[in-house]
Amino acid sequence: MVHIIGGGLAGSEAAWQAASRGVRVTLYEMRPVRPTAVHKTDRLAELVCSNSFRGDKLDNAVGLLKEEMRRMGSLIMRAADAARVPAGAALAVDRERFASAVTDAIASHPSIALCREEVSRIPSGLDGPVIVATGPLTSDALSRDIASFVGSEHLYFYDAVSPIVLAESIDRAKVYRASRWGRSLRTGGSHSAGETMAATNSGESGTGSPACGIDDGQGDYLNCPFTRDEYERFHAALIAAEKAPLHEFDDPRFFEGCLPIEVMAARGIETLRFGPMKPVGLPDPRTGREPYAVVQLRQDNLAGDHFSLVGFQTQMKWGEQARVLRLIPGLEQAEFVRFGMIHRNTYINGPTVLRETWQTRRRDDLFFAGQVSGVEGYVESAASGLMAGRNAAMLAIGDAPSAPPRTTALGALAYYVSHADAKHYAPSNIAFGLLPPLDRRVRSKQDRNRSIADRALADLQRWMDQDRVGSVPAGVSRAT
Ligand SMILES: Cc1cc2nc3c(=O)[nH]c(=O)nc-3n(C[C@H](O)[C@H](O)[C@H](O)COP(=O)(O)OP(=O)(O)OC[C@H]3O[C@@H](n4cnc5c(N)ncnc54)[C@H](O)[C@@H]3O)c2cc1C
Repeated sequence: MVHIIGGGLAGSEAAWQAASRGVRVTLYEMRPVRPTAVHKTDRLAELVCSNSFRGDKLDNAVGLLKEEMRRMGSLIMRAADAARVPAGAALAVDRERFASAVTDAIASHPSIALCREEVSRIPSGLDGPVIVATGPLTSDALSRDIASFVGSEHLYFYDAVSPIVLAESIDRAKVYRASRWGRSLRTGGSHSAGETMAATNSGESGTGSPACGIDDGQGDYLNCPFTRDEYERFHAALIAAEKAPLHEFDDPRFFEGCLPIEVMAARGIETLRFGPMKPVGLPDPRTGREPYAVVQLRQDNLAGDHFSLVGFQTQMKWGEQARVLRLIPGLEQAEFVRFGMIHRNTYINGPTVLRETWQTRRRDDLFFAGQVSGVEGYVESAASGLMAGRNAAMLAIGDAPSAPPRTTALGALAYYVSHADAKHYAPSNIAFGLLPPLDRRVRSKQDRNRSIADRALADLQRWMDQDRVGSVPAGVSRAT
């Protein structure tokens, strides 16, 4: 038996992986009995902010991680692929269809028992391993117990989320549809391999785009163009806007890839123009020229009636958001489906607590997975759940847990979380920089990344071949 606490992206994937290996699972999810400040439904694997799983191409690290997960039989990837909505070279999903598919798969699995209750202490002395996958909004009682287990390394930090507007309230006469550098899968009309390679963005750093940041050249966006005057007025309003007070902690530390817009604005008048409001590669088809700045809106659901402001996470008070964001050309009459907000992010100091197998150093039978384990992002959370679920199942059936080679994205993420500098630990998205370099020189970054991805997939396959019990081919469930 494997006991999993938290039915988010990590916990649901972990449950699926363990059950797919024939091991019985009890999955504890506290919603709806005890809600969180951010989740809105009682569904498993609810996406709390963006509907994007980011880049989906192999010359992009998060694209590689997703492909490795598919090959490991990931439920999260299966559900995401099935709920896909147009988003250029990124994988974005209809959030309701996605969460429903995961919930149905878990609830109907004969080896998984789903218990809707809060677990307030880390269990011990049970009949099998325990996985803590309670996410960035781990309940207070369990947070306290985790703090006492990991000691002073238990940390808090903040993120902020982007607002969503109603499509019909966007002034279509002012905005224009375009993806950066014209790279949209929609315009090509298919998802062929050649096209998707070509669609991979040039702005991609090779580290995967940040969880909440700009999707450089990866989507079908509505673009709100600014003149210089409009931009300066907007910048001044952002600086002057009233921010929501922070409770509990005086010194919030934001994830650099997910900074609130007003924090960026305060760094200088040009910062936003080189960040989420970057106009480069987005000429307005009506003038043929790039505007002074743009705000990009990305479709947020399959029906196409919600659009999120890309990279516009904010801690402004809600009234101030309505006032300031309506200064954006095209959003003068915007109706907000959801305002941006600031939120807590609870995570442990991975390198002091975890091994590469996602087991804790102190207790063989205790695993952490997901955001609380010290990874950052939807895909990374699910990936850590995949490995924790697989390894907990190995332990339950008397086999040794193991980690894929560091040359794979799954292995590199596990290595980072368990071996990074503990004194300066920060959760990280997957990045090619976390994988060892090639042993030969490849000049072009795109070719280099592609070669690292090819090596990763070959090494993953070898590791899976050696390990018949631990690996379940895509779509196969061993559980009866
Ligand atoms: C507001 C916000 C916005 C974010 N935006 C993005 C984004 O846009 N893109 C991105 O890639 N990442 C984003 N993240 C980061 C991260 O990827 C997500 O939080 C992701 O959902 C993490 O997956 P998880 O499985 O670790 O946690 P979750 O998906 O939060 O799942 C944890 C589950 O555990 C349950 N739980 C908590 N405590 C207990 C308990 N004691 N007993 C039982 N159940 C419990 C919760 O109800 C929840 O369902 C965001 C995080 C937050 C908080």
